[in-house]
Amino acid sequence: MAHDHAGRVGRALALAAAAGLDTLVVAPGPDLVYLAGYDAPPLERLTALVLRPPDLAVLLVPALERPRAMTAGAGDVAELAAWDDGDDPYERVRALAPGARRVAVSDRLWATHVLGLQVAIPPATFDRAGPLLSPLRAVKDDGEVDALARAGAGADAAFAAIVTERFEGRAETDVARSLGRNLVANGHESVGFTIVASGPNGASPHHEAGDRVIRAGDAVVMDFGGKVGGYGSDITRTVFVGEPSDHDARVYETVRAAQQAAFEAARAGVAGQDVDLAARRVIERAGFGPEFVHRTGHGIGLEEHEDPYLVSGNAEPLVPGNCFSIEPGIYLEGRMGVRIEDIVHLTDQGPRRLNEAPRELTVVA
Ligand code: ZN
Ligand code: ZN
Ligand code: ZN
Repeated sequence: MAHDHAGRVGRALALAAAAGLDTLVVAPGPDLVYLAGYDAPPLERLTALVLRPPDLAVLLVPALERPRAMTAGAGDVAELAAWDDGDDPYERVRALAPGARRVAVSDRLWATHVLGLQVAIPPATFDRAGPLLSPLRAVKDDGEVDALARAGAGADAAFAAIVTERFEGRAETDVARSLGRNLVANGHESVGFTIVASGPNGASPHHEAGDRVIRAGDAVVMDFGGKVGGYGSDITRTVFVGEPSDHDARVYETVRAAQQAAFEAARAGVAGQDVDLAARRVIERAGFGPEFVHRTGHGIGLEEHEDPYLVSGNAEPLVPGNCFSIEPGIYLEGRMGVRIEDIVHLTDQGPRRLNEAPRELTVVA
């Protein structure tokens, strides 16, 4: 599905005008992909989409990158302006933005370029463009939701395949390699991460798969994802190698209930922190409050982690079109961990999961 880049550039220009910004400098990275469909490498040579309300949109590119920008279709939404080695690209930005007073730059613009711009445009104040562009990117359109749903379905299929394999006696890294292969076999163009944390390693939420050999009785946390159509998947399931003890099953069911409670709390108009609280209350009531050591979720899209965050302190209400993870966990030092994570799309009618891999306690061999 083709994305409406022209519409997005128009909305960014309107928001910039409303915020009293006279110039927006968008750097390579997710902001530029979102606005212009151009996945440019961040380089020491400046590439920047310069936006000036009401309607100026110029993509400044190093001359040698011009063919690539053309091929990516960036010329459809912006006038392409190439600068040659030996030119001062910051002066080119200044010339595009005469009299600039309030400039906002992408959060991902390299410091070397920000400092170059500050020297070239000394009277201007510089702010982050994140607060302006993030809310735009956080409301997914149909094409984006479609990509996220395909990514979610691919991750579900990768999980369905892994639980048919034997776990006992294999190193975590071996299971992680299988997960990566399964993602690619199920429509992923790239693999972003494959966390496999067995037994006591499960107590570290971001454990890197290592050479620990998985044993009977282990809980195994698998958190994995990659990209489909440029958009991310991110799923976590925790499986047990053989029947779990009553204690471990109780930990699992607590996390499952917390994940469900947060899912049901996720509605338009509800603050991100209140969805976090819904999960946290369930875990606290079961006596594991201090063992839930991270926020409940993060937005997802062109980036693995982006707005909105389901975290204490985020009073911003969720809005239809938001897509985010719900991933509570319990981490018992030296013993085990459990996390269950789905990506959720918030619609006018309420939350809809983009992952449907079973959440029931799963026993593997
Ligand atoms: Zn994470
Ligand atoms: Zn994850
Ligand atoms: Zn996540």
